[in-house]
Amino acid sequence: MSKFVYLFNEGNSEMKELLGGKGANLAEMTNIGLPVPFGFTISTQACNDYYEAGKKISAVVEAQILAALQQLEENTGKKLGDTANPLLVSVRSGSVFSMPGMMDTVLNLGMNDEAVKGVADLTGNARFAYDSYRRFIQMFSNVVLGIDSFYFEQFLEEVREQKGYSADPEMTAEDWQEVIAGYKQIVKKHTKNDFPQEPKEQLFLAIDAVFDSWNNQRAIVYRRLNKIPDHLGTAVNIQSMVFGNMGDDSGTGVAFTRDPSTGENILYGEYLINAQGEDVVAGIRTPQPIHVLEKDMPVVYKQFTATCELLEKHYKDMMDIEFTVERGKLYMLQCRVGKRTAQAAIRIAVEMVNEEIIDRKTALLRVDPDQLNQLLHRRIDDNHNQTQIAKGLPASPGAATGFVVFDADEAEQLGNDGKKVILVRSETTPDDIHGIVAAQAVVTSRGGMTSHAAVVARGMGKACICGCESIKIDTNAKEFTVGDTVVKYGDVITIDGSTGQVFLGEIPMIDPELSDEFKQLLDWADEARFLGVRANADTPEDASKALEFGADGIGLCRTEHMFMDPKRLPIVQEMILAETDEQRQVALDKLLPMQQGDFEGIFEAMKGHPVNVRLLDPPMHEFLPDKEELLVEVTKLQITAPDSEELKEKEKLLKKVNQLAEMNPMLGYRGCRLGMLNPEIYEMQARAICNAAVVLTEKGIPVKPEIMIPLVGHVNELKRMRELVVETAEKVKEEAGIGFEYQVGTMIEIPRAALTADKIAEEADFFSFGTNDLTQTTFGYSRDDAEGKFLQTYIEEKVLPENPFAVLDRDGVGKLVETGVKLGRQVKPNLKTGICGEHGGEKSSIEFCYEAGLNYVSCSPYRVPLARLAAAQATIRHQLAEEKETVTSK
Ligand code: PEP
Ligand code: MG
Repeated sequence: MSKFVYLFNEGNSEMKELLGGKGANLAEMTNIGLPVPFGFTISTQACNDYYEAGKKISAVVEAQILAALQQLEENTGKKLGDTANPLLVSVRSGSVFSMPGMMDTVLNLGMNDEAVKGVADLTGNARFAYDSYRRFIQMFSNVVLGIDSFYFEQFLEEVREQKGYSADPEMTAEDWQEVIAGYKQIVKKHTKNDFPQEPKEQLFLAIDAVFDSWNNQRAIVYRRLNKIPDHLGTAVNIQSMVFGNMGDDSGTGVAFTRDPSTGENILYGEYLINAQGEDVVAGIRTPQPIHVLEKDMPVVYKQFTATCELLEKHYKDMMDIEFTVERGKLYMLQCRVGKRTAQAAIRIAVEMVNEEIIDRKTALLRVDPDQLNQLLHRRIDDNHNQTQIAKGLPASPGAATGFVVFDADEAEQLGNDGKKVILVRSETTPDDIHGIVAAQAVVTSRGGMTSHAAVVARGMGKACICGCESIKIDTNAKEFTVGDTVVKYGDVITIDGSTGQVFLGEIPMIDPELSDEFKQLLDWADEARFLGVRANADTPEDASKALEFGADGIGLCRTEHMFMDPKRLPIVQEMILAETDEQRQVALDKLLPMQQGDFEGIFEAMKGHPVNVRLLDPPMHEFLPDKEELLVEVTKLQITAPDSEELKEKEKLLKKVNQLAEMNPMLGYRGCRLGMLNPEIYEMQARAICNAAVVLTEKGIPVKPEIMIPLVGHVNELKRMRELVVETAEKVKEEAGIGFEYQVGTMIEIPRAALTADKIAEEADFFSFGTNDLTQTTFGYSRDDAEGKFLQTYIEEKVLPENPFAVLDRDGVGKLVETGVKLGRQVKPNLKTGICGEHGGEKSSIEFCYEAGLNYVSCSPYRVPLARLAAAQATIRHQLAEEKETVTSK
């Protein structure tokens, strides 16, 4: 017969899935001989069976509970409901992952009109006994019978007032008896029944209630937020009660074995004399720092600190401990691995290696890569008041305060004047780049995690919120509204790009600091990982940042951002508008030295590390003015200056804009299709890269250029573009009389390219998976619109498990990546493969890249530390799994 109920001495800390975290740790503490009030745990399996049977405890589980109860009674020498020596128990939830405060608890269960007399006699403290009984009625009625606590609190308040008391300690035993009588009437009024007196009935009702609380609203929301699966269920712990409120030789408290906010190796916690746990939580009395216990109860303090040390050594981690002292005797009520800030997580992990408590691999697995973001960016100081007005997607971490502006030019102007501004737009385009550069942060009401604003801001390490749909922007009125709140041009807002929150006014910030422990941990990560980590960087500044954060090279340099410089844009437009090849060549000749200068700067900054430069990708119209705005200007000029040169120019521009306009620009004339129809553009870029390589080689600085062709769908595209690049490079080498190594490869970002990767590999020295476009084209979802339109609903309703633009979809997009790698390496076994879509900076996608056998991931410079750690974790996890497999197969 299956076992559903475990006495504390029958479990251990490994049994979390079955006993929940709390139950497993109570069992572990019991087994290592710590003073834990005895009890038993009803398993999560029993919870799942309860739901399957239509919320009913089966006869088998019921029998096992009764048997365990009998054992508990024997062990404690007390009996549930007994007048002479009553057993009182707590009934608490306990799931595999901690869900603090989300589920229900009942304390002092077993109290009734008889037992309370027994407790009064035994303790010689009638006041305490009746206070405990009324607490039980209140808690049980609320949690189990569903009566709002308000009725009880209101009644208690009335009694207190009537007696002229200001606080509970003034209440006598008789007063509490009066309260109990009133409480019973409240129960009768709401349930039409008397308060249950039979302790076993109380017990089973409480167990049902704890099982039910697994599916209360707040538990469901908490699970969704923390990605805890719904099917796990909760265990129920039944434990004999101990009382911290039996006088000044009693008390209760919580402690962490190290400081959970800084990680410092000191006992950190607080306690209250003569109190129960709920008093600490309720915050009615201010607890004392834990070290005061040394003065109040020296013997207990010594025993407690020794127990903390023992627990930390036993679990080899920082522990969060709850304890109670009952009449001078210490009891351990709970222990679990303590939650901690990012800073503390790193410090504790590194110091525990130095203290020889854990090894490096364990230390690396202890820190969540996502937490590192907090340390690399400024963040909001939570100790100050905040008025949140809106929430969008957390597109790029960091926090910023500034004046609201709605236009990139204005952002630039004010930025140049030294003002801090936040650029608020419905969405951004490459046209806005100068405004983004000048702004502290960007907020868009549309667009998702791979929208232009998100990608650019992340690349620059700037805070950004996208898809903030509750914001309604009126650019003409220069204001945005959220409900009734109006925020005007020049008003100050603060945003947190790590959470997506927008606040009114200024909120103080905390600056990032990279500790020695942080650097140490990342050095260990580099030793452990096989997967390379590169950065997506488009400027020498980004490149230097990437190296500073430990990148192994550049995995994607998007050259279009270089075209967007306001000084260059007119020349780029001249190139696009050229009517003859000669005219176009004149413009290209002007652009060539500018691009060459960019590449020289980047190569120099990268000090010989590989630099992957992608040739021009975006549709041409992105470099031209907005069609609507142009139309307005032309219409105005037709009225005010019909014969002007300006009108002729604008009309010409409008004609070209119309010519280039496409219904689906993302599927249109972009990527290598540009190079196919206008090879002179790619030729100029290839020449600029190679000239830069020559200049650096002459200076004795090593260079490793990788030239990448975007959006290839057919091998013939790559074949032709490769020939163009190779021809240009060889010409440059010959002209300069200087040799340098270079490679020519392709992005794989169209499903057809992945499916025909064997043919494509014939022409490629490397593959880089562009998973932004690959996700877009595999799902057929627009990367610019989907998140604002339907993806959120898809994720909420679990149609999709995750946003595929943020977390790589292993089943679909991932399969294409695997196919691409496999087919490519059939032709070239050592084919270098990487990923440069936004997924390259996301921990679970990084693990996938490791499994798929990629050589490297590439992400924004600010995500490089995260990626180094995630890459190390992927390697270690797989090594550990392999070791385990070898052991079991032996
Ligand atoms: C991609 O598509 O994944 C990619 C890196 O290119 P871009 O985002 O510039 O289209
Ligand atoms: Mg792309």
